[in-house]
Amino acid sequence: MPGRKKISIKGIVQGVGFRPFVYRLAKSLNLKGFVRNTTDGVEIEIEGADRDISEFIRALPEKKPPAARIDSISTKDPQDIRRYDEFSIVESKVSKGFTQISPDIATCSDCLGEMADPQDRRYAFAFINCTNCGPRFSIITETPYDRARTSMRTFKMCTTCTEEFHEVSDRRFHAQPDCCHKCGPEYRLFSIAGREIKTDDPIGKTAGLIKEGEIVAIKGIGGFHIACDAQNCKTVARLRELKNRPTKPLAVMARSDFADTVAQVSNCERKILESPVAPIMLLKKRKGGLCENIAPKNPYLGIMFPYAPVHHLLLREIPCLVMTSGNIQDEPIAKHRASVTKKLRSIVSFYLDHDRNIENRNDDSIGYYIPKRGFSMIRRSRGYVPIPIRMPISARPTLAVGPFLKNTFTLARRRDAYVSPHIGDLDNLDTMEFFEEMVAKYRRWFRIDPRLIVHDLHPDYLSTKIAKNMPGNKIGVQHHVAHFVSCLAENNVLEKSIGIIFDGTGYGSDGKVWGGEFFIGDIYQQRRAAHLQYLPLPGGESSINKPYRIAVAYVHTLLQERLHIAPESEIETILRMIDSKHSVINTSSMGRLFDCVSAMLGITTEITYEAEAAINLEHAADPTVIDHYPYSLRETEPMIIEIEKTLRSIRKHIESGIPSAAISARFHRTIGEFSYEVADRLREKHDLHSVCLSGGVFQNRHLLSLMIERFEKGGFKIYTHRNLPTNDGCISYGQVIAANAQERSR
Ligand code: ZN
Ligand code: ZN
Ligand code: FE
Repeated sequence: MPGRKKISIKGIVQGVGFRPFVYRLAKSLNLKGFVRNTTDGVEIEIEGADRDISEFIRALPEKKPPAARIDSISTKDPQDIRRYDEFSIVESKVSKGFTQISPDIATCSDCLGEMADPQDRRYAFAFINCTNCGPRFSIITETPYDRARTSMRTFKMCTTCTEEFHEVSDRRFHAQPDCCHKCGPEYRLFSIAGREIKTDDPIGKTAGLIKEGEIVAIKGIGGFHIACDAQNCKTVARLRELKNRPTKPLAVMARSDFADTVAQVSNCERKILESPVAPIMLLKKRKGGLCENIAPKNPYLGIMFPYAPVHHLLLREIPCLVMTSGNIQDEPIAKHRASVTKKLRSIVSFYLDHDRNIENRNDDSIGYYIPKRGFSMIRRSRGYVPIPIRMPISARPTLAVGPFLKNTFTLARRRDAYVSPHIGDLDNLDTMEFFEEMVAKYRRWFRIDPRLIVHDLHPDYLSTKIAKNMPGNKIGVQHHVAHFVSCLAENNVLEKSIGIIFDGTGYGSDGKVWGGEFFIGDIYQQRRAAHLQYLPLPGGESSINKPYRIAVAYVHTLLQERLHIAPESEIETILRMIDSKHSVINTSSMGRLFDCVSAMLGITTEITYEAEAAINLEHAADPTVIDHYPYSLRETEPMIIEIEKTLRSIRKHIESGIPSAAISARFHRTIGEFSYEVADRLREKHDLHSVCLSGGVFQNRHLLSLMIERFEKGGFKIYTHRNLPTNDGCISYGQVIAANAQERSR
């Protein structure tokens, strides 16, 4: 008597070779029935011997394809036996559920082998892919994932590819973007004026132009990169000038054997670089490696490995390329030739284009490795999105619109939070359009019709304004509360904890600018327990680009001394503003305190990219110096950290000629010290033992590691972000959870 089972699987099970895998598994166990994609995931019906059916179910999670992720398997016992003749893959069933979409996956080693083999029919083919690798998220237009719902729909498969596609034993069986030289997309090279450069080998020709010192836009997976020879310092300097990016580090793409010569690559780091995600990683630079100008004054170098076939083909000719996002300033990355010729024309002289549409922009993800903690993200995008992040509580359909800088939004339902790809800074029309485009797509793909809209408290943020115009219930969540809750939720911490949020800017519930905050609470309720003392920002947030103004203001306010680090007339204006309290806002921002000290030391007095002064101050620190400066704690409610003594000691040290490296190190230690003391007092009073660290300041690896060490030694359990960045990339996720928790506890 044969048995029968109906199996539903949810997770990342489409576009990752899951159905072929199920097919082969069923065949090997002599089971009959079918498998199909649904909008919900994958559905299987099998008939056969009970023993074989159990073996089948047992093997599903164990033998699943490398890029697949199973979130749940449920089985049912239908009564009737259908007596299927065979096992087959049948048409997708579109219903009202929703499905997960696979992220883009870096080219696998099997495909690389074929691409390098002159005998193979895909030799040097720039669009090679298989069930285990290739574009996914970036080419999808609708769910469920099938070729007809991707930008591959316009390419008709040739006979040979069609045969492969239907051949179960083939590693391209049902690989939706499958194609070859004959039937797939192709690269073409153009001058920026739009004239095609006729050649049989546009990629080889591009490599040649780059070698000659040209700057070229290259269409890849999630958008265009601007590329040039990373070893040609003159071109790198020219690129900086043309892109109007004087100092912000540039990422490079290096052949794996070359990477070792310019950076220290540990085994753990290499594994991440070579993984299907293939992110940019910040690695310790080697002396005498690439041009200093690629990451000036910075001990780290942002490196990624080639992740699309075209990258491998280019790097055969040239070992290391600067590969920076194809955009100007903070606009979204260019995804088609029209935006290249319009926006990048003053930067690049050529562009290498192809005719497979990029449906969804997807920037390179960025991160670094912290020993004992693992990969820590700075930007979560390609390779990760749109995989949902689990939430500790169930949410009703929610849209959280996120912050102003480094925006991501999150659409959530039940326990799944779909955090968007990196959108960018919401201060220009193109970014706004990108935001709205992706919100609409996410709503459609994941079938979420949000009833709850969550936004920041800042009344002037564009995201707040958009949220207020949407139908549904609205809840505002304070920026640093969102940081705190995000870190709690990501780590599945439900108990009451201490949150230390060190950040640049966030609108406080008292209307002031927060950023040096201590909370106690959980995902449901939070109370501000301590903060850095309020200090005046002259001219409001516009002084962020001129750290010397902050130094002048802080030193005047706390020490009644005059710094001479700006034209006297400007200093006069700043002092007048502060004394009259006119055009001044008060801030407890930790980011601004870093700016202040960096400018006092003369390390960075004006910045050209976000947090530049703080980053340079971090890199100046001498790690062997272990003492710290004095400070005081005022036992009010909330507690206040006063830094008059700190700044006074720094002034004295500067005057007596102590090197900046030592002063910076002591300053970092001071933050570690007062943070610990505040946390220790809160522990005494409230019996709390875990601490969450969040906020952009914790991208400072020097500060992060000294704080982790200090707190762990003192018996605290420390939580940091794991799947999201510690910067504002984590805000929308925190907003969703904080708002749902709030609603529920009411
Ligand atoms: Zn492959
Ligand atoms: Zn073909
Ligand atoms: Fe923030």
